[in-house]
Amino acid sequence: MSAFDDIKARDEQLICNTYGRYPLAIDRAQGCHLWDVDGKRHLDLVAGIAVCSLGHSRPELLEVINRQYAKLVHVSNLFYQREQAELAEKLLGTSHAGKVFFCNSGAEANEAAIKLARRYMRTVQGRDAYEILTLSGSFHGRTLATVTATGQEKFRQHFEPLPGGFTTVPKGDLDAMRAAMSPQTAAVLVEIIQGEGGVLPLDGDYVRGIQALCRERGVLFMVDEVQTGMCRTGRFWAHQHHGLTPDVFTVAKPLAGGLPMGAMLATDEAARGFAPGAHATTFGGGALVCAVASKVVDIMLAENLAEHAALMGAHARELFAGIARRTPGTIAEVRGMGLMLAVELTRPAADVWRALLDRGFICNLTHETSLRLVPPLVITREDLDSFAAALEDILRAQG
Ligand SMILES: *Cc1c(COP(=O)(O)O)cnc(C)c1O
Repeated sequence: MSAFDDIKARDEQLICNTYGRYPLAIDRAQGCHLWDVDGKRHLDLVAGIAVCSLGHSRPELLEVINRQYAKLVHVSNLFYQREQAELAEKLLGTSHAGKVFFCNSGAEANEAAIKLARRYMRTVQGRDAYEILTLSGSFHGRTLATVTATGQEKFRQHFEPLPGGFTTVPKGDLDAMRAAMSPQTAAVLVEIIQGEGGVLPLDGDYVRGIQALCRERGVLFMVDEVQTGMCRTGRFWAHQHHGLTPDVFTVAKPLAGGLPMGAMLATDEAARGFAPGAHATTFGGGALVCAVASKVVDIMLAENLAEHAALMGAHARELFAGIARRTPGTIAEVRGMGLMLAVELTRPAADVWRALLDRGFICNLTHETSLRLVPPLVITREDLDSFAAALEDILRAQG
């Protein structure tokens, strides 16, 4: 039995069957590469689902983890911790927000945003507004509230009864958004690029229109940057592409370099919705993850990874445009911003995805016909060139 077959057999016997896994068991990772348990090297164009933005096994993060683990890991939010204050300063310094709440995942960050919106309306505005409007095709997480916020039926099926006070509004239709708003509306929550929905960017005028509508009606405008945040799209925050100033936005995937962490950032005004005891988490904002996240922000700014993501994204698009020219009828479209990209094929992508895997290139098969690429932001031109060459070869061979 190979090392892979052995792990797979034990996994299938012992672990809840919730994941459709790739036929690989990963043993170690370095930079933009993964090594499987049978010793084969792969180029990682998934980065743990847009998580490992700095690449794997960064020596600077290892150094912080070693130092901070020896000093202080967790004492809970009963105490003040220097590491939280330092990270808050750095993170808030990248945006217009004034306050942050630390938690442990994207779903938790969105839960915090939802709770803040409702509590802000009741305790600050004195209005019984609780309704959260989200968009069709969106994805906001897997807890009961965030799965209800998620505008895709398949994630909610069989989990009813769902929490009340959520409405899905058709995406791209500002009149529908206007019509959906009522005196009970507390907030609108949107992604700038719908990630799990298939890497679908929202139109700039449309999202600016939603923000304007929110301001006009006294509704909080909230952006889910769990996947798009922290340099991924070519700006530190994706909402900055469109000149938006959300009252609340959330982040998680790239925040702590692969360690689990989420955060909700809010303007000082919106943050008035929380008071001592209103919301909490045992693990959130522990000294270890905060110290690592601080280093992540430092490196992103020092290495200007937003600009690098924009440049590499543009390079990848040129490569794909070249393939589309030379092998007409294979690539239908390329979507996304920066290093959050989808290559939409003209037919089911599973065979192409599998052939790439066999050649040592790992990308993400999201929807039936599209390949999603969310590589480490430190990926090089040469890595992208090698991926594009393999993709072209495969598209030609599969004609
Ligand atoms: C991944 C994701 C989430 C959920 O994050 P978890 O850490 O898995 O809870 C929420 N929103 C968006 C946009 C995401 O991409």
